[in-house]
Amino acid sequence: MIDKAKCKGCGMCTSVCPGSLIYQDSEKKAFIKYPKDCWGCASCIKECHFGAIALYLGADIGGMGSLMTVKSTPDTLTWDIKKRDGSKEEILINKKESNKY
Ligand code: SF4
Ligand code: SF4
Repeated sequence: MIDKAKCKGCGMCTSVCPGSLIYQDSEKKAFIKYPKDCWGCASCIKECHFGAIALYLGADIGGMGSLMTVKSTPDTLTWDIKKRDGSKEEILINKKESNKY
């Protein structure tokens, strides 16, 4: 899901999508033409520094339509998951330690 109101038109998401699924309209706002082709690699949401992209977590991976966004700092990634029942989960990743796992 791309929120056009938050999109600044930087184009980072279009350049990192491995499936070339994201395009920009005449105002440089990003949009995904065929959402069903997205395989949820999350590259685009990590690259968007404006919080404009969120990923729906499907039932097949236990998400049941939960909405996932990410906040990035130089040292950390914080994955925020909003579940359909209104509850929230936060997963903090230290980028410097991420290769340990
Ligand atoms: S990375 Fe974010 S701000 Fe940049 S074009 Fe994509 S959605 Fe818009
Ligand atoms: S989640 Fe991955 S495959 Fe899906 S639109 Fe974003 S970069 Fe492309």
